[in-house]
Amino acid sequence: MSRITPSLEQAAARIAEGGVVAFSGAGISVESGIPDFRSGGGLWERFDPMDHATIDAFRAAPARVWAMFREVHRVLSRSEPNPAHHSLMELERAGVVQGVVTQNIDNLHQRAGSRRVVDYHGNAQLLHCLWCGARYPGSHPADEDGVPYCACGRPLKPTVVLFGEIIPREARERAEALAASARTVLVVGTSGLVEPAASLPVMAREAGASVIEVNLEPSALTDGVTDIFLPGRASEVLSALQGEVARLGVRSRD
Ligand SMILES: [Zn+2]
Repeated sequence: MSRITPSLEQAAARIAEGGVVAFSGAGISVESGIPDFRSGGGLWERFDPMDHATIDAFRAAPARVWAMFREVHRVLSRSEPNPAHHSLMELERAGVVQGVVTQNIDNLHQRAGSRRVVDYHGNAQLLHCLWCGARYPGSHPADEDGVPYCACGRPLKPTVVLFGEIIPREARERAEALAASARTVLVVGTSGLVEPAASLPVMAREAGASVIEVNLEPSALTDGVTDIFLPGRASEVLSALQGEVARLGVRSRD
């Protein structure tokens, strides 16, 4: 367990006041067995993203992109939400977390029971057709070439945002509305480097929110944006925070 430090007590007191929006990144899912794509041993070491993860690659050779997504689905099928995901779900249930904006495509917040989740970079468990707009579950079977096809005959693509694609409008608008309305932002496991996601905590702070950051190491946000930095593993720090918020009692249920 994470020690109860003065910073953690201060952060818990802010969270207990409600109006919290969480922004999560790869660091929250590492403890679920999903390596950061950009880390050593991550996906990009085995699949060059320029060959396998761009929208142009999908249009030119969907089977190549699906070779990578089969590996993604294999990793995700072995993963479970960890205590960090569960703590955010408990804080939502207690009425203090208003939403979770995640850069992760792993569906783990939803599997932990969080209800208000914005998949900013899409979701690997949901497929769509770029041509007719139809949507299919991630379990939709593939043809012999390894590619699942739409009823209209075109290849299906996971809703994951590939390089060269823009953030879908609905996700962007929901994320920006949450950032604008947040009283407190809880940043968990993100480097603060990938745009445009990295600008959301900055946007929230400019609108008056205070920023609590949970990361193993200081990030690009720590010096200029973060008010309270809580170093450590997401599972330990969030479990301790949630326990402290429960001990304080929830002061607001807006
Ligand atoms: Zn279609």
